[in-house]
Amino acid sequence: MRQLAHMLDTRQATSREIVTRYLEQIAQQEPQLNAFITVDEEGALLQAEEADRRRAEGRALSPWDGIPIAVKDNISTAGLKTTCASRFLENYRPLFDATVVDNLRQAGLPIIGKTNLDEFAMGSSTEYSAYGVTRNPHDLSRVSGGSSGGSAAAVAAGEAPWALGTDTGGSIRQPASFCGVVGLKPTYGAVSRYGVVALAPSLDQVGPVATTVEDTAILFSLIAGPDRRDASSSEARPFQVPRWDEQFVTGLKIGVPEEFFGEGLDQEVEQAVRKCLAELESRGAVLVPISLATNEYAIDTYLTLVTAEASSCLARYDGVRYGTRVAAADSNTMFSKSRAAGFGSEVKRRIMLGTYVLSASHYEAYYEQAQKVRTLIKRDVLASFEEVDVVITPTTPTPAFRIGAKRNPLEMYLSDLFTAMANLSGIPAISVPCGKDSKGLPLGIQIMASHFQEELLFKVAYMVERGCL
Ligand code: GLN
Repeated sequence: MRQLAHMLDTRQATSREIVTRYLEQIAQQEPQLNAFITVDEEGALLQAEEADRRRAEGRALSPWDGIPIAVKDNISTAGLKTTCASRFLENYRPLFDATVVDNLRQAGLPIIGKTNLDEFAMGSSTEYSAYGVTRNPHDLSRVSGGSSGGSAAAVAAGEAPWALGTDTGGSIRQPASFCGVVGLKPTYGAVSRYGVVALAPSLDQVGPVATTVEDTAILFSLIAGPDRRDASSSEARPFQVPRWDEQFVTGLKIGVPEEFFGEGLDQEVEQAVRKCLAELESRGAVLVPISLATNEYAIDTYLTLVTAEASSCLARYDGVRYGTRVAAADSNTMFSKSRAAGFGSEVKRRIMLGTYVLSASHYEAYYEQAQKVRTLIKRDVLASFEEVDVVITPTTPTPAFRIGAKRNPLEMYLSDLFTAMANLSGIPAISVPCGKDSKGLPLGIQIMASHFQEELLFKVAYMVERGCL
């Protein structure tokens, strides 16, 4: 990003030229990829012209003023369609910007378009989008991952220099890993969720996707910080991009949890991650075998909580206020017909599961139990950070799978096997590319650290980027 900023700063390029270049790339790639639900050509060019005017008058809003960005389509953009990849919100235009979008505007970033996702961010492949799957730029027969598959594919294919995604159980890290880009799930509360359509409010976080660790850190610095409009946002200091230092890895204690290297892990993924760990060790890091035994319960716990919260959050889509309405003689029939027509099958499945685990006769056995297990998982994770500085694992058990390969929803849910733990415990986690497999598919490594340790995460990620690509 520094290069684009330098070009703008030295007048080698205008924002209009840069935005036009990305729009051309979008026009060329979209017929194969389908990473965007909406491309806002006109809006982006207008914003670019404003950026050029500001810069000419010496009033640039930030060094990044005029560099475009793509935004996941479950993040509200005033006047620009925000569909959540659902038929329900096909024509929904929010009246306000999400705080993170406001942050982008304050830094002068033209919004080039809204990226594809699994409907309401439920899924791991974008196959559950009502607007078609997003294909993986490295192999068009494969998925881009999900739910932020559009954001990851757009960045990987050069349709946008960076993008925002959301991550509830792995939705930034898994597609970043599948598409060979960097993606961060920040600490819970580090970034405002105001104006972000909720999947599960106790787990959701907005985060950056970019091609390099530094760009990811820059974008994170633009969106991190407290927000009065989001009660769960933290008072923690805004984030500043660190100074990159290759020496600091000496003596760094890296926890390697054996549970993440067991059955079901693709051999080539394992080899790539182990090679990267060995590289970090050769540069002075200390590898510490640790155990995160509670990860065995992460998927079950995650699914119980995510479906419970999603079923409550989605109650608002009833045909009255937003989106699809199917007319009927009485209001109850109208609600049910509208919901039957507006939601796709994965969303319906989750609403049913969520309603079940919250129902009076099952609440204690499922929802309450899951809350207790969540506490145990969090304790397990936090205890490991008394011993080590960071924990490193593969981001996903396998590289990008083929479109249509996971017909059984349970198989799809297993995509989050290594990522859900960070959401359940609220800690930050980043996925960084660590090479390719023999088919040329990108592989990703996940680094986790304790709450609000994003700076440490980025520094380690920077080393991984240098040593393991
Ligand atoms: N794949 C996970 C799910 O289906 C994660 C979703 C997300 O992080 N938004 O719930």
